[in-house]
Amino acid sequence: MKERAFNFSPGPAALPVEVLAKARDELLNYRGAGMSVMEMSHRSREFMDMAEAAEADLRTLLNMPEEYQVLFLQGGATTQFSAVPLNLLGGKTKADYVHTGHWSAKAIKEARSFCDVNVAASGEASGCNHIPPRSEWRVREDAAYLHICGNETIGGVQFHDYPDLGAPLAADLSSDFLSRPLEVGRFGLIYAGAQKNFGPAGLTLVIVREDLLGRAAPTTPTPINYEAQLRADSMSNTPPTFAWYMAGLVFKWLLRQGGLEAMAAHNEAKATMLYNAVDGSNFYHSSVAVTDRSLMNVPFTLSDPSLDGAFLEGAKARGLLNLKGHRSVGGMRASLYNAVPQEAVTALVTYMAEFERERA
Ligand SMILES: *Cc1c(COP(=O)(O)O)cnc(C)c1O
Repeated sequence: MKERAFNFSPGPAALPVEVLAKARDELLNYRGAGMSVMEMSHRSREFMDMAEAAEADLRTLLNMPEEYQVLFLQGGATTQFSAVPLNLLGGKTKADYVHTGHWSAKAIKEARSFCDVNVAASGEASGCNHIPPRSEWRVREDAAYLHICGNETIGGVQFHDYPDLGAPLAADLSSDFLSRPLEVGRFGLIYAGAQKNFGPAGLTLVIVREDLLGRAAPTTPTPINYEAQLRADSMSNTPPTFAWYMAGLVFKWLLRQGGLEAMAAHNEAKATMLYNAVDGSNFYHSSVAVTDRSLMNVPFTLSDPSLDGAFLEGAKARGLLNLKGHRSVGGMRASLYNAVPQEAVTALVTYMAEFERERA
């Protein structure tokens, strides 16, 4: 392939071309330092300046209230599945979780090693194709926090508004962070791996409200102890320097695009185009409840699954890549993160219509 493909990968995922080009231009000699950003000390002036700018840009993008702290950590969202109970239980023994699919199930399983977990609501009985209505949630009064997965990357269900139920809300926003405006003040804790929507793998952002700090279990390993990491400027050990730098470039790119309002409009237009193509045909199907559909990850199936292979092959020939659905769901999945251009979705729906005409 001579040109860049239309990349619908669920993660690691597409990055903005401008960001990749900037990283290329700075790769051998980072801003006159005589070396690349990944070859220098994380405590050097150059790196510290970059890190400060990245946090400032993130705060601007999210209009983040001052009482929130930002950590730039390693370990992926998966490590946070343990870090969250270790840091937030604060002597309590109970935490409540909402089960909406693959990733919330993983968080629940991991949390059970640390506390008494109550599944406050679950979409499992109907194949996790919707967000359980708020009236069904049973949140315990003495729960240390309530955990949700804001966007189920595999199942394609997404919260379009967030609950306010007393217990601090802890959210895995790995696959929709920075895809639209976010009212940070509604959360006690937000975490997100970079490789879906704002950088390469290796970096995990944690945003935590100050009053939830300082209550980590004494056994919490230092690299995942929020309070300890805050005191060390996220450098209790060597941070993921290159991924941090790349995320910083993405934050600047987002500001240049017009911020998160502009991103929301861009992402909504793409998702609407694809869902319209699916809903307007009898050949393609989405099983997700319309009101809870994800704007980031769109799973869909062909009415004849024996055509899946041919669909993927034809897509690949047109430079439409990484459309195969997760093995637990089958069918197709198109991930429409920020860096996926409108033209990619136009090319996809054009191909879908042609494939249907030829094969249905
Ligand atoms: C990808 C993903 C994870 C896991 O991320 P890792 O970096 O592999 O730990 C967790 N939650 C959600 C919602 C994800 O999309």
